[in-house]
Amino acid sequence: MTSQTRWNRLSDQQRLERAHSIAKTVDPWHWLEPDGSLPLEHPQLWPKVMRVAQAIEAGWDLPHGTARGTLLLCPKRPQRQPCPGQLRVTRRPDDQLLVFCPECGAEVTCIRNWQRTPWARPRCEPLPLEADQLGAVDLEDLVLAMTEEVEDWAAYLDARTGQVVSVPHESLRQLEGEPPSLFADSQLAAANLELARALQADATGRYIPIEPLSGRQKFSIMESFAAGLPAGPAREQLDQALQARSPLRCFLQTVSADPTLRSHWLAYETRALHDHAQAWLEEVRDESAFD
Ligand SMILES: [Zn+2]
Repeated sequence: MTSQTRWNRLSDQQRLERAHSIAKTVDPWHWLEPDGSLPLEHPQLWPKVMRVAQAIEAGWDLPHGTARGTLLLCPKRPQRQPCPGQLRVTRRPDDQLLVFCPECGAEVTCIRNWQRTPWARPRCEPLPLEADQLGAVDLEDLVLAMTEEVEDWAAYLDARTGQVVSVPHESLRQLEGEPPSLFADSQLAAANLELARALQADATGRYIPIEPLSGRQKFSIMESFAAGLPAGPAREQLDQALQARSPLRCFLQTVSADPTLRSHWLAYETRALHDHAQAWLEEVRDESAFD
């Protein structure tokens, strides 16, 4: 009797027992870097690690004692013919993942210590898409939201669309029962109220609050502009302005008095604000990628 015939005659339970008895046990953490990434120094291991990864992905959420088919083809060639089996993963009562080919009973692996690997989680989380969307953000819009002094409005980045959205605080307060103002029946007010509702209901981190630039941050951009000027009267005046009682206003008055200085300042400020917005965006992107 060939081993294939013997395998065919086994019950499901017997197959599981036999597979487990001949399984080689693997611990993915023997290969993975401490942060769960592929071993950079050993690319020859990657295909092997990814086969184990695909088995974990197929089996991590199974109830104990149940099985699921994977999309991994059995690599064996019994009687020199490729085996048509697709590997099956079973989550054993002891929480190990047993992988084997249900057709030929070969290619048996038992995966232990898989629970904290990067593949033991839902695959279709929306976050990677959102992280991509953040690449589509219009920096001009973002800079505007950070610098525009519109009182009583709050700006957010919609991580799903990459768009900057603003909502009046009044609309947010209306949700808490405050009566609407005179304009409340206009189309715009209705749209604002709808957005306010979406913001309030957002539990997924879709809307990321955009903090306006603080006085301290504005001051520091002015300070570094002044520090970059060659020694001379312009630099002295700006240094003095920055030490005045209202340094921001005084600085702007001083640069406005000199058209050349003013155009240098505007170019410098634009660049600095773009850098600030870009850095903020990268921070947001990093945070959402690890959520
Ligand atoms: Zn097989």
